[in-house]
Order: sequence, then structure tokens, then C-alpha cells
Amino acid sequence: MTRKPGTINDQDSPHTTSDSDVIVVGAGPTGLLLAGDLAVAGLRVTLLERRAPGISNLTRAMAVHARSLEQLDARGLADELVATGHPLARLRLFAAADMKPSRLPSRFPFVLITPQYEVEALLERRAQKAGVTFRYGARVTGLDQDADGVDVHVQEEDGAATTYRAAYLVGTDGVHSTVRQALGLPFPGRTVVDSVVLADVRLDERPTVPLVANATDDAFALVSNFGDGWYRVIGWDQRRRVPEDTPVEADEIREYMRLALGSDYGLHDVRWTSRFHSDERQVPRYRVGRAFLAGDAAHVHSPAGGQGMNTGLQDAANLSWKLAAVLRGDAADSLLDSYHAERHPVGKMVLRSSGAVIRLAQLRSRPQRVLRATLARLLNSVPPLADRAMMMISGVGIAYPAGRGSHPLAGKRAPDLRLAGGTRLHEALRGGAFVLVTPEDEKVPGDGKDPRLVRAAWAGDRRTALLVRPDGYVAWATDATDPDVRAESLRGALVRWTGAGRAAARTAARP
Ligand SMILES: Cc1cc2nc3c(=O)[nH]c(=O)nc-3n(C[C@H](O)[C@H](O)[C@H](O)COP(=O)(O)OP(=O)(O)OC[C@H]3O[C@@H](n4cnc5c(N)ncnc54)[C@H](O)[C@@H]3O)c2cc1C
Repeated sequence: MTRKPGTINDQDSPHTTSDSDVIVVGAGPTGLLLAGDLAVAGLRVTLLERRAPGISNLTRAMAVHARSLEQLDARGLADELVATGHPLARLRLFAAADMKPSRLPSRFPFVLITPQYEVEALLERRAQKAGVTFRYGARVTGLDQDADGVDVHVQEEDGAATTYRAAYLVGTDGVHSTVRQALGLPFPGRTVVDSVVLADVRLDERPTVPLVANATDDAFALVSNFGDGWYRVIGWDQRRRVPEDTPVEADEIREYMRLALGSDYGLHDVRWTSRFHSDERQVPRYRVGRAFLAGDAAHVHSPAGGQGMNTGLQDAANLSWKLAAVLRGDAADSLLDSYHAERHPVGKMVLRSSGAVIRLAQLRSRPQRVLRATLARLLNSVPPLADRAMMMISGVGIAYPAGRGSHPLAGKRAPDLRLAGGTRLHEALRGGAFVLVTPEDEKVPGDGKDPRLVRAAWAGDRRTALLVRPDGYVAWATDATDPDVRAESLRGALVRWTGAGRAAARTAARP
């Protein structure tokens, strides 16, 4: 038996609990979505969370982007979340750049402003309902893995040491991830801005746009409207660097707003405040044997662009169906390597883009600030540039690499296609299975009757055949007109991607 050591196994764990298929460490948005998906897929899932039940994380994230809403829609959850928030169709950055989520080709052409705890509450309810075993007050202290599974060492609320075992483990335990440390992985990067203040406040005067952000000299401020009378303010002054435990006073926030935005909008009633620093870091490997990292445990970046939670949700959506497929025996373990291959580059891109915004906000000299203003105006005057930036920030423009010779749609996000019978693709994806979209008269091996596959037909007259992965990306497509070529290609795709028809293919191949 090969053992991969957990480097910080500080517990002598005498008691081992019953096995799970997957242990998820950390009940933030990433862990909650992942655990819920796996339980919906019929797997035994244990979620270990060091916090006591009912105590939510502080409201860090407030922006939910279109692609996250699409993922939630593909689980039947989006409308409930949208009802909790305030949609922003337009954002203004650096006094000049107008970003227009309203132009996104999505059912959700906006940025939803809603507190992170609403996202967590929704995902927690779903995970509970799907049968996830929640263990609150369970602090993971280390792990060991062998060829068959992972032992996770836990200190329970009463101080008892316990070991949990599962076939796979996912560390979604945030920026200070114990799982990452136990795997011996570095978290290279650096602090990009320190002494950032955050506050939820009321204003006498309403800013003209729902989200406004600007930087001047050393100061930066962002004001975003929650839509319920409260506003989120984030700001800093690079000349003022104080220890992180220094209390945030209302006057300090007012000053940053006046410096950067020209007004404090009559700030009063400060609900809560926080002072933090912002890092840019990414783990070099998202998988070590049977253990995976996702969300802030794998990558952390500045809050600029509001992408941390959104990227974690996409990590979860990418990994959950792969783990389910492998654990059900529908796919080989090597499918799990594609999680790193697909998500690590996305994490890197988000680090770069949010880093670019924060660096632009930090420009100090006059020529640099002139350059920033010019860039902002350029985004307005060349709409394709602004639209492309919005596509990437929202996640709608993100695609995964497809193999050489693949159809041009392979790896791309499948939009919410209109299907026959008045349904939509995101509704068809709600079973967590692959969706095969073909013309209504197309013959499919086994007539498409397979629990791993949902059969759907185009609403209009289209001849493309499309296999959509459970996370809403195109696995395979063909426009072939020769019926034999088409059928053969489809058969190969179904076996390769869904495992459907594999037994039949094996039988046919026997001498
Ligand atoms: C000021 C600010 C504003 C932000 N705004 C946005 C935004 O608008 N949009 C956006 O997308 N993102 C935003 N983010 C980032 C976002 O908050 C994070 O990316 C998100 O919370 C990450 O989710 P996660 O589930 O990966 O980790 P977390 O939310 O950090 O959850 C990790 C969980 O693991 C638990 N845990 C940790 N260690 C252990 C252990 N040893 N054992 C058991 N449990 C453990 C923790 O208690 C926690 O519940 C913002 C961040 C900040 C600081």
C-alpha cells in the first residue's frame, strides 16, 4: 500500500467513522455547491466544517455573475437567488468606463448584487435536502491517502480526535486551507494591496449608477447598491497603512470616498466593517492523488471584478460531475485530471484580470492616470472590447481546450438553447446528466435510453448534433451529413464521454 503523507497530521486519531464516497472540507459556497451536486448524483458525501452550525461567513462577496447564475439555473436554483438581490445592468469604473452586463448573451444579463450568505443559505438547503451529511464543529487537522482512499483527521467540537475515510477528498477550506498544507503544496504569490477597508453603510444621496468605482492619486473607492437601502463601500488610501486590527471609523471611509469619488454621499449608519489585505496566489496543482483543491483553497485574488466566489462555484461545477462519473464507474480516473487541466488556466486568467484592475486602481503618477483614463474611454468607444471584457468577467466567455480536430463548438459554453417542447437547455441539464441535442428525427444508439443521458431535440430546424456535459460545456458536436459518419461519430462520443453503450461496444469488439 503506497501512502502519501499528510504533512500536518497532528492528531493521533483512534476512532474512524464510516466511509463516504467523497469528503468535502469547508462549507463555503464552493464546498456547498460541490457537496450538493455529489449528493444529488446519489453519492455518499460528508461535509466537514469547523464553524458551528448556523454561523455564516461574513458577507464578503456581493456580486454573482451571469455564468454562476446559469449554473444555478441548471440546478433549478437561480430564480430563488435572483429574488434575493438587485440586478445591475451597468457598472462604471474609473469615472469613464461603462461596462454593460445588459449586453451579455445570457438569460441573466446583469450582475446580481446579493450577500454571500444568501448564496450559502440556498446551497446549504439544497445540500441538506439531497442528503449530504453535515459535520459542523469539525476542524480538519491532517490527512493521509493510499491507493484506495483518503483518511481525514478531524478534531471534533468536544475535542475528540476522529478519522473520516472516503474514496476522494476535496479541500474547499478557503484561503488558509489545511488540506492544501497537508498535501504539502505551496501557495505562491504576493500581497497586492493592504489596509483595504470594507463597510456596509447607508447614504443620504444615491450615486447616479448602482456601482461606481474610481481611483485618484493614492485613494480608491467603490460604492455598490445592495438595493435594500444599504450600500457596500470598499476603499483604501495607499498612504495610510495600518495594522489589520485597527478599527475602521466612519470618517476614514468618508475620506476615501471624497478623495476617490468626490463625495461621501452623506454616509451614515455603518452596519459592519472589516480591514483586510488582498493577495494574489494560486496553487500549482489542483489534484494530488485522491485529493483536490477548489475555490479560495486553490486560488485567491483581489476582490476587483467580484470573481472569487464565482470562480469557486465554477470549480465545483467542473469537478462534481467528473467525480460522480468516476465513482459510478462510467469514466476512468484519468477524467479527474481534466479538472486541473481545465480550471487551473481559468484561475490564472482570473488572477491576471483582477490583478490588472487593481493595478490600474493603484496607478499614481499623472501620466499613468492619463493612460488609465484613455483605456477607460477606449473601452467605451470600442464596444467589442468592453463586451469581451464583460464576457470574461461574467464567466460567460470562458471555454475549455478541446482536442485537435474537434468541432469548433467543443469546449465552449453551451448557451441556454431553445429545445423542442418549449423547454431550455438549462432545464434539461437539471438531472445532472449529459444532454444530447439532435434534430427530432435523428436515430441514436439505444434510442438514447440511458440514465446518463437526457435526449433533447432542437426547437428549430438545425442539423448539428451536440453532446453537452453536465456542467454546460460542449463535449462533442458534429455537422456531418453522411448518416453513417454521423452515427459512428455519435456512438464514439457517447462511449467516450458518458460510458453509455460501453458494454455493447465491448461485446461487439470481442472476437
Ligand atoms: C472584501 C471582499 C469582497 C469580495 N467580493 C466578492 C464578490 O463580489 N464576488 C465574488 O465572487 N467573490 C468575492 N470575494 C471572494 C469570496 O468571498 C471568496 O472567493 C469565497 O468566499 C470563496 O469561497 P470558498 O467556498 O472557496 O471559501 P470560503 O468561503 O473561505 O469557505 C471556506 C470554509 O472552510 C472552512 N474551513 C477552513 N478551514 C477548515 C478546517 N481546517 N476544517 C474544516 N473547515 C474549515 C471555513 O470555516 C469556511 O466556512 C470577496 C472577498 C472579499 C475579501
